[in-house]
This record gives sequence, structure tokens and C-alpha cells, in this order.
Amino acid sequence: MKFRSLLLLGAPGSGKGTQGQILARIPGFVHVSSGDLFRSLDPHSEPGRLFRAYSDRGQLVPDDLTIRIWQDHVEWLVASGRFRPSADFLVLDGIPRNVNQLARLSSLIDIIHVFHLSCPNREILVQRVAGRARQANRADDLDPKVILERIAVYETETRPLLEKIPPDRIHDINADQLPYQVLRQILIHLP
Ligand code: ADP
Repeated sequence: MKFRSLLLLGAPGSGKGTQGQILARIPGFVHVSSGDLFRSLDPHSEPGRLFRAYSDRGQLVPDDLTIRIWQDHVEWLVASGRFRPSADFLVLDGIPRNVNQLARLSSLIDIIHVFHLSCPNREILVQRVAGRARQANRADDLDPKVILERIAVYETETRPLLEKIPPDRIHDINADQLPYQVLRQILIHLP
């Protein structure tokens, strides 16, 4: 059985993590953020070093490592009873992040809704990410050049996912709203 999944898709600063964390508070929703998984790695381990090498430049981590870390984590969520595939929604935040990851995960996940958090105004995204840098422990949020590179990588590698998913599963949501307003737009699509 494939995991019933909701995909939060959007550029850095669009609010994927905020919505994922809110949804995770609701019983029946299990949030998995690939960025959080990477940041929780031991920075001195080989995968931890690789992550820093790529993310510090605003680049994506290679797909093999990304898929392995995600799969190990989801298997652990199932084994520990934190995620019950027959009952819960898996809320995907940051993964799949390119067309190859989508293809490789397609035997495991069924993406029933994509919430496309859209913010055409790049200034807003940059300001949000830069604002977050002061709070969180995120080196990749501090450097404006890296922020712009991540937005560019989103446009070239991640946004094309929208062409690979049936249009009736994609919901465009204006990300330039308050978190509760974005949440309301997400919830109206759920059964
Ligand atoms: P944001 O969406 O704000 O850029 P994330 O926390 O989702 O932040 O990701 C931070 C970094 O982690 C990315 O820039 C990238 O280097 C790495 N990363 C996260 N998810 C993936 C993924 N699915 N594939 C490859 N790299 C990833």
C-alpha cells in the first residue's frame, strides 16, 4: 500500500515548514521535512558533512542520500507507530524536490494533493528567509547570494514537478497571507 501523501510545494520562504508544523499538531497528520532531517544529522558524520557542503551553496543534496535518509526515517515512523499508513496523511515538506526524486518515490507514495504555496514576489521570500536566519540555526539563510541561489534552484528543479502531477490534484495557494489564512486554504481541499 502506498502512503497517502500531501505535498507542500513552494520556494524557500513560502511557508512550507510553517504549514507542515501546524498540520503536524492535528491527529492524523504526520509531517516529514527533508530539511529538518538533514539538519538533525551529526555534522561530523559523512552524510552530515555532505549536507552542509551542498546546502551552504544553496544546492540540492544528491538524490541517493536524500532518498535513503527519507526512507529510513519513514520506516522508523511506521515501525514506532508514529505514522499509521492506513489511517494517517503523510505531509511531505521539501521532498520530492526534483523530477527524479518524484519518480523514485512513486512506488512508495501516492500524492493525493499538492499545495503549491505560490509567491511570485521574490522580495517577500528573501525577506522572510533573511528574517528567519536570525532565529534559527541556519547558515544557508544568512547569505543573500545563497538565498537567491536556492530560489533559482527551486525554479529550475522543483517547480517542474507541477507538470508531472495531475492538475486536479494541484491547488495554487497565495503564500503571501498570514499562516492561518494559508492553512484555511489548505484545509478546504481535504475530505
Ligand atoms: P528551504 O525550502 O527553505 O530551502 P529546506 O529546509 O527545505 O529549506 O532545505 C534546506 C536544504 O536542504 C536545501 O537547500 C537542500 O540543500 C537540502 N535539501 C532539503 N530537501 C532536499 C531534497 N529533497 N533533495 C535534495 N536536497 C534537499
